[in-house]
Amino acid sequence: MIPLDLHCHSTASDGALSPTDLVTRVAGRGGRVLALTDHDCTAGLAEARATAAAHGIRFINGAEVSVTWRKRTLHIVGLGIDPDCQVLADGLYSIRHGRVDRAREMAADLIRVGIDDAFAGAMRFCSNPEMIGRTHFARYLVESGKAKDTQQVFKRYLVEGKPGFVPFEWAALGDVVGWIRAAGGIAIIAHPGRYKIGKRLMLELVEEFKAAGGEGIEVVSGSHSASEIPQFAHLARSQELLASSGSDFHAPGEGGRDVGYTLPLPAGCVPVWERLGIVAGDYEK
Ligand code: AMP
Ligand code: MN
Ligand code: MN
Ligand code: MN
Repeated sequence: MIPLDLHCHSTASDGALSPTDLVTRVAGRGGRVLALTDHDCTAGLAEARATAAAHGIRFINGAEVSVTWRKRTLHIVGLGIDPDCQVLADGLYSIRHGRVDRAREMAADLIRVGIDDAFAGAMRFCSNPEMIGRTHFARYLVESGKAKDTQQVFKRYLVEGKPGFVPFEWAALGDVVGWIRAAGGIAIIAHPGRYKIGKRLMLELVEEFKAAGGEGIEVVSGSHSASEIPQFAHLARSQELLASSGSDFHAPGEGGRDVGYTLPLPAGCVPVWERLGIVAGDYEK
């Protein structure tokens, strides 16, 4: 494992730790390079950066942006973004706007399976109300005994065909890549293993993404199985995409990977962090 992590979440979106607590956890574990990539929002970056500086951690501004591509939800990570860029800020606002109404509809749909008060319940797990989302509902459903953990929630609820699912139109792929580039950032396809779209569609996605100015793909992700890492390393090499590595950490004990460390990239991948000015000495002791 290397003490570098380019994908994680704080209470600014659907993580359970404040930016300060998140970075303090990384410092306690010996992490050296960190990007905070909250969903559709940059509100946690300043606090995280200040805490990282106090611990001598190299900090990279990030965001994970929600996209609707061919009726599917995809996530695009932007790294090295300027959060003050107006194009990016306006774009992210346009996505956040609508989450509260969506959450009310999700709660209304859960009533039909006998789950009351899910809106208020989910909101109790949400520090940034404009970012209310499925993870907050998942935590409430676990708390109220509807599932043993959030993984199980996402099998029984909140996904297409199950109670609490509400289709939502996020931003267009080309727009999101454009906002990230306008903000000086590098756009990266997040956790490609999650999309289950098959080789041909994946290549079409990569082609459209690159044409829009996208440059990288997550090869190592907390959402990837051991066999998916070499598979996406091959895709990165053959498509000349920069390779990224992140835990996708949300909360202690929730999901597989803790924050601050990731597996090294397979041979032949070009690490995205080299483009961000990170050298081996920044994370190798
Ligand atoms: P939203 O943006 O409100 O649709 O929420 C998406 C978030 O739900 C993701 O960022 C994950 O944190 C969580 N999520 C979605 N699907 C799953 C899953 N299968 N397992 C665990 N968490 C999931
Ligand atoms: Mn999330
Ligand atoms: Mn994601
Ligand atoms: Mn994520």
